[in-house]
Amino acid sequence: MSDNVRVRFAPAPTGYMHIGNLHTALFNWLFARKMGGAMILRIEDTDEVRSTPEALDVIYQGLKWIGLDWDEGPDVGGEYGPYVQSERLGIYQEYLDQLIEAGRAYECFCTPEELEERRQVMRARGIPPRYDGRCRDLTEEQKRKLREQGLESCIRFRVKETGTTVVKDIIQGEVTYENSLIGDPVIVKTSGFPTYHFAVVVDDQLMQITHVIRAVEHLPNTQIHLQLQEALGIEPPAYAHLPLILGEDRTKLSKRHGAVAVTDYEQQGFLPEAMFNFLVLLGWSPGDEREVMSRAQIMEAFSLEACDSSPSVFDVQKAEWMNGEYMKLMDGEDLAGRLLPLLQHEGLMEENPSAERREWLVGVVSLMKERARLLNTFVSWGRYFFTDDYEYENRARKKWLSREEVPERLELLAERLQLLEAWEHQSIEAAVRGLAEELGLSAAKVIHPCRAAVTGTTIGPSLFHLMELLDQNDVIGRLHRAAQLSRAGELEPGPEPESQ
Ligand code: GLU
Repeated sequence: MSDNVRVRFAPAPTGYMHIGNLHTALFNWLFARKMGGAMILRIEDTDEVRSTPEALDVIYQGLKWIGLDWDEGPDVGGEYGPYVQSERLGIYQEYLDQLIEAGRAYECFCTPEELEERRQVMRARGIPPRYDGRCRDLTEEQKRKLREQGLESCIRFRVKETGTTVVKDIIQGEVTYENSLIGDPVIVKTSGFPTYHFAVVVDDQLMQITHVIRAVEHLPNTQIHLQLQEALGIEPPAYAHLPLILGEDRTKLSKRHGAVAVTDYEQQGFLPEAMFNFLVLLGWSPGDEREVMSRAQIMEAFSLEACDSSPSVFDVQKAEWMNGEYMKLMDGEDLAGRLLPLLQHEGLMEENPSAERREWLVGVVSLMKERARLLNTFVSWGRYFFTDDYEYENRARKKWLSREEVPERLELLAERLQLLEAWEHQSIEAAVRGLAEELGLSAAKVIHPCRAAVTGTTIGPSLFHLMELLDQNDVIGRLHRAAQLSRAGELEPGPEPESQ
């Protein structure tokens, strides 16, 4: 085994990239980078039916989005390639020959229907279902006959029938498995493709993997891998099985919990830096109170030994909070740059904004960032910055815009604002407060209807600062529009949503 740390992220290109896959990739990457080792990307496409090139693209995208790189892989090459299992079929054959020669692999002719039938019988008898070893000792003559009947065969690995297999795991500790309960696993399918168990053992060996870091769901598989390694005379790598990720109802995170695809989080406006930080805290902690940590700080504090063996909960609220913290810390210009493509996608910003428009956007972002938790929040909450076409929320209608006295107030305010020569928050504030005073009202009685008219909402950043960022004539137009709609009875509140 090489002295240098070599780890691999080994996804199957089937379906979408799950948050759990990204979690595994991230821990591998952190460990590799921390130890000055190599990170390898290996594509495990032994499921020939479900593997697709699109799913492979999604893997690349997900890894790049969160900022992980790799030293060896299908796209970057490396000394131990090919890095796609379907391109390594010849390699597995050599190892298979070795197992057959040692009497540890045999042909099995049982059909899927027969296997299912037998599994049902075992279940009915209360025995954990496993392969019963029926084809273990077929004679050449028996095999010939079965072939003549047109039956196809797969190859199974002959596991030990007695004793135990002990997995020594860096995170999960020592776990002991009874060999008699395993059942001989298939290692080469009827199609000639190796199964996961076989390919993973061969490839981890040939790629000189020193540490296998993967999800705890694979812990029971490790007993098979250890037995295969022993049969092949391979020294096992170190194992570290990462804890399970649960949804908020404490069942394993799955589609039932809503978004689990990495791309969903990207689309919802999570920053990759925040997602990185959030994911690393699922199953690891720096051992103190710190939560918002830079990549460098995480790297500094990280160790596999400090990972937790018990499951952690994927708390979306916490992920959003973390994202909000990152946005607050981020420089306005950087944040505006991240937001621009989203706004363009929504048709709220032009394709090539001028330097002046960009600067304006930085102003908007800086004003909003204290409150926003996701990039998308800017688009939904801050729509009124970019267009006159925004909704008047029910609460704004109910509290202010449907009141009889409000239209006149809005129109008077529009007149005062028209007179302003300098469109700045100080002068806007003075005009608003001045009007309230003249009318003998508290400032709030002008401020709130004004916000409702100009933004359609009852909450948001400082009204005077946000008005400064809008065009003077637009604001005046919005005040008149709301006044007219209100008089025409078009700003009555809709029905309250039914309480649950
Ligand atoms: N292809 C397996 C998966 O996607 C990899 C498991 C392993 O890392 O050994 O779950």
